[in-house]
Amino acid sequence: MISTRGAGGVAPSEAILRGIAPDGGLYVPERFPHFKQEDMLSLVRMDYRQRAVFVLGRFLTDFTQDEISAAVRSAYAERFDCGEIAPLAAIGKNTYALELFHGPTLAFKDMALQLLPRLMTMSAKKNGETRTITILVATSGDTGKAALEGFLDVPGTECCVFYPEEGVSAAQKLQMVTTGGSNTHVIAVKGNFDDAQSGVKRLFSDKTFADALKGRVLSSANSINFGRLVPQIVYYFSAYADLLARGEIEMGEEVNFCVPTGNFGDILAADYAKKSGLPVGRLICASNENNVLTDFIETGCYDISNRPFYKTITPSMDILISSNLERLLFDLSGRDGMYVAKLMQALAQDGRYTITNQMKAAMQKDYAAGFVNQEGVQAEIRRMWQEEHYLMDTHTAVASAVLRAYREKTGDTRKSVVVSTASPYKFGASVLEAISDEGKGADDFDCCRMLAEKTGMAFPEQIRMLPELPIRHKASCMPEDMKAAVKQAVGAES
Ligand SMILES: *Cc1c(COP(=O)(O)O)cnc(C)c1O
Repeated sequence: MISTRGAGGVAPSEAILRGIAPDGGLYVPERFPHFKQEDMLSLVRMDYRQRAVFVLGRFLTDFTQDEISAAVRSAYAERFDCGEIAPLAAIGKNTYALELFHGPTLAFKDMALQLLPRLMTMSAKKNGETRTITILVATSGDTGKAALEGFLDVPGTECCVFYPEEGVSAAQKLQMVTTGGSNTHVIAVKGNFDDAQSGVKRLFSDKTFADALKGRVLSSANSINFGRLVPQIVYYFSAYADLLARGEIEMGEEVNFCVPTGNFGDILAADYAKKSGLPVGRLICASNENNVLTDFIETGCYDISNRPFYKTITPSMDILISSNLERLLFDLSGRDGMYVAKLMQALAQDGRYTITNQMKAAMQKDYAAGFVNQEGVQAEIRRMWQEEHYLMDTHTAVASAVLRAYREKTGDTRKSVVVSTASPYKFGASVLEAISDEGKGADDFDCCRMLAEKTGMAFPEQIRMLPELPIRHKASCMPEDMKAAVKQAVGAES
């Protein structure tokens, strides 16, 4: 693995253990594996776990097949509420929903975060690391709970989550602050997601902080960690294999993926699948009102200076600084670490950067982009419920609406997969409001109950029982005090 800012030469296990490269860059594969048509044919005959072992093995080159197999078997097991793990639903002409919300916390983050802790402890062993691994997480809502559940009571690890105090849904917040376990810490940050993410990145590069955490080593469970990305590559291959298995596509036929995007991790995994040989047409990057990525993909200029931050009904996408874009920039620039470092410096200093016309042209060959506002999201949920009897969460609806607009604009008729990232019950009040006016004034949980009655779709227990659980995490801090908050949480005060 090499860093997007030039440093190089570590094995995948070390990249996973470190989380972020010492030069501040992100780890990427030195070269991509290549999946041939016969590999794709083998995938068709496999179940999700076997597909995961097959795909992960080609990326995690210093793990044995047995290790990967053991990690996959325990990650994708009974905590998922459906045996297919990542089922593909037909939701209209040439359109499918890749449902990634069947894991324990009901969001797609489980796909990676049920596996990452297992890869992390194996990586520690491989690298002779005996200190406690302290995982620092910044969350816009869903990563936090998924990381807490993934690392819950995993020996040799502790997990410390920062979430924006006013920036997550009621269910998301309760999911986090009611977490049990002896190694979990949850802290509210008085700021937005970008404040929390920047704060965590600062802690990673703070040498005195690392020294103060005696007997511990820091790592990340955010999608800056390559160990978060690889498990996400699997489900793009799996969706393609399912389409082949059902005779919906011919071998080699290109398929589009439309992805509701925040930190650019999910869509980048699709990009990596394409670079590894998956026949992907367009990657459609779907955003909400925080549409910095739409502008970037259309103009080649990434600009957050003077850009307002909107709080929306798709909180997991309320992000202006999309960390994983750095990995795309690295490939677009011909893997020029110096150039990427310069862009990142410009972003930090001036709040903007512009890529070359050549890079922009290359990007637009692979990517399209669009955004939709709150009314558009609710109209899409309503339309899909009425026309297809398919209930979507707000984030998935962003992608569905953006795909619709993309098709109208381009006339692209290729089969397209909408990546469905959360259960509608995670955002029950907004979803109910879209299809009915019964929920006015009711709290999130009453809305979920009404939603279940109205749609007949089961109300998942993980959300249903939340109001009964004791609140176990009450800490909060200012963004500039995150260092002290971590020390206090893990008991490393000097
Ligand atoms: C995290 C998240 C996203 C955004 O994914 P990124 O990998 O950050 O782009 C979209 N929808 C939901 C429900 C999420 O939890």
